[in-house]
Amino acid sequence: MNELLYGSTRGAGEKVTASQAILKGLADDGGLFVPERIPALPMSMKELSVLSYQETALAVMKEFLTDFTEDELRACIDGAYDDKFDTEEIVPLKEADGVYYLELFHGPTIAFKDMALSILPYLMVTAAKKNQIKNEIVILTATSGDTGKAALAGFADVPGTKIIVFYPKDGVSPIQKKQMVTQKGANTFVVGIHGNFDDAQSGVKAMFGDAELKKELETCGYQFSSANSINIGRLVPQVVYYVYAYGQLLRRGAIAEGEVINVTVPTGNFGNILAAYYAKLAGVPIGKLICASNENKVLFDFFQTGAYDRNRDFILTSSPSMDILISSNLERLVYKIAGNDAGRDAALMKALSETGRYEITDQMREQLSDFAGGFAGEQETAAEIKAVYEKTGYVLDTHTAVASFVGRTYRETTKDDRKMVVASTASPYKFTRSVMEAIDGKYDGMEDFALADKLAELSGVPVPAAVDEIRTAEVLHKTVCEVPEMKAVVKGFLGL
Ligand SMILES: *Cc1c(COP(=O)(O)O)cnc(C)c1O
Repeated sequence: MNELLYGSTRGAGEKVTASQAILKGLADDGGLFVPERIPALPMSMKELSVLSYQETALAVMKEFLTDFTEDELRACIDGAYDDKFDTEEIVPLKEADGVYYLELFHGPTIAFKDMALSILPYLMVTAAKKNQIKNEIVILTATSGDTGKAALAGFADVPGTKIIVFYPKDGVSPIQKKQMVTQKGANTFVVGIHGNFDDAQSGVKAMFGDAELKKELETCGYQFSSANSINIGRLVPQVVYYVYAYGQLLRRGAIAEGEVINVTVPTGNFGNILAAYYAKLAGVPIGKLICASNENKVLFDFFQTGAYDRNRDFILTSSPSMDILISSNLERLVYKIAGNDAGRDAALMKALSETGRYEITDQMREQLSDFAGGFAGEQETAAEIKAVYEKTGYVLDTHTAVASFVGRTYRETTKDDRKMVVASTASPYKFTRSVMEAIDGKYDGMEDFALADKLAELSGVPVPAAVDEIRTAEVLHKTVCEVPEMKAVVKGFLGL
């Protein structure tokens, strides 16, 4: 087997194995790890199309994570994609109004982060063993809501790990808070802080950089790690479901072998759509990758003009997981279109951190022809939810609706009528209020759980266990602290 190594987008320097890249998260020079080449799929799409989700995952991941044995990968996959998901298909592909919605929200937190965060803990523990790391891995995370819960659910009761999540006590939604403070698992710790998300983030970053703390941890057999979205251990598992989606279309006879499809992805940090791009480069017949933004349309402008510019107002929308002005994973694409030139990438990223802006060359822009960009405003998003519901009875969440609108607009304006897969990143039950108000103004002001019951009536989809459970779940995490106390709280948890 040809070993695939990973290098940093910012340094031409040392290459590491997949397991080392997963353990490190970020390269020492601040760059992101990228594979030195994108491996080809190990068999034809036709052969892949008869595999289960787990078998597809094994076929794809063994090409990317070449220093893991097949047995190790199988154990990681079986641990992750089991009955935590509420359907054996793991990612059902649903047709509505001529579009194929790839439902990535059947995991424990009913949003797409589960696809990666349910397997990352297993990959990390396996990577630690492979690299003779005896320490217990302590995941330290600050969250503004969604990632924290998905990481907690993923790491809960995974041997060899502990997870500590800090959230702004008054800065997350009541449902998000309830989801976190009711988290089970003896290795989980959840702390509300008196401060905002930035305070939580800065506190966590300070602990990562604290040499003295690092020494104390080491003495007691611990080391910190991060479940950040730029970890290659989150990106690779996301390639799998694009391979699987194409296989499903083939299996159903919805497309012919080799037929090219388009994919639309509701985008924030650019991880999900980058995975679709990797799937294309690996051999899945994907034509256009359509990047859908909400009103924070920094990526749309980038594809339009070649200039990335975060100097603009941050807009709070009904698709909060896409309210992002720095799309970290875009750096991996920039590196590629710069001809894998780390120096050039580093210069652009330096400009981004110093001026909030960079501009790519015409030559680089030419290599973006696989991508198209679009965006949806708040009214268009709501209207999309209502229109698809009224026409088909299928209910989209707000993030998926952004993509659905952008995909539709793309088809209408370009006359490119290839089959379209839309990545469906959250259950409508996660954003019940926005979804129900989009369908009918009369739901305005109704209580959250009553709205969920109403949504079940309308859509015929039962209330997911993830929502049902928190109605009555016991609060297990009551710790609250001031920002300067965060370190002491961590030491307390770990008995340092
Ligand atoms: C995180 C998230 C996104 C954005 O995905 P990226 O990989 O960050 O582009 C979109 N929708 C939902 C529901 C999410 O949680």
